[in-house]
Amino acid sequence: MRSRFIALLLFASTAAFAQSHADWTYQGKTGALVWGKLDPSYEVCAKGDLQSPIDIRNARINVELKPIEFHYITGGVTIENDGHTIQVDVHKGSYIVAAGARYDLVGFHFHHPSEHTVRGKYADMEVHLVHRSADGKLAVLGVLLSEEGQYPNAVLATLWQNLPKQAGKSQTIDVMVNPGGLLPTDRAYWTYSGSLTTPPCTEGVSWFVYENPVSISRSQLNTFEAIYKMNTRPIQDLNKRKIEATK
Ligand SMILES: [Zn+2]
Repeated sequence: MRSRFIALLLFASTAAFAQSHADWTYQGKTGALVWGKLDPSYEVCAKGDLQSPIDIRNARINVELKPIEFHYITGGVTIENDGHTIQVDVHKGSYIVAAGARYDLVGFHFHHPSEHTVRGKYADMEVHLVHRSADGKLAVLGVLLSEEGQYPNAVLATLWQNLPKQAGKSQTIDVMVNPGGLLPTDRAYWTYSGSLTTPPCTEGVSWFVYENPVSISRSQLNTFEAIYKMNTRPIQDLNKRKIEATK
């Protein structure tokens, strides 16, 4: 009886420590290939058929797709190294209007290399700007970062001076950042229905991936790579989905 009580206590404290969700990684024993088995709430990572990221090819032009309307504001941000990525939280007030619906910007984070591929090719990195509507729907904008670009990006330069190198560390920076500075000048995009690319891999995410990359320098890539060498989920099956393009 007593041992059962102790076992229960142990279970309760372990569960509380893990916040009731299993830890996950990109590679190894808790890597992306087994996410669906790590926790019942991650099941859709393995069983879903609308998963992200995907390889973008054979997109069909839909002339009725409208440009995304941006209402981003400048503000202070908090940069966190959460053990999976560099997460940047923004103040409330920035939002987009996409496909007629308003989505508030929650924050953005980075993947190295890119998660989406274009006709099989990876970009150096990808930033995901995560938005949520009042009724809980998610819209994520993906911007590819490429060393090929000509112009240094001012927002990346500001953030890169303040990247917390150690997992679990965060810092609030007192410089002002406008997330709109992370967008390419040409706003042509691909869109499809997908999921979060990290557990719990929730589906029903409207994805908008910009066709044109934003530039990142070799030294900025090296800095990020020293923190996260690989934080990219493998490409998922497209299944019956269609990818649409603005042009
Ligand atoms: Zn992401």
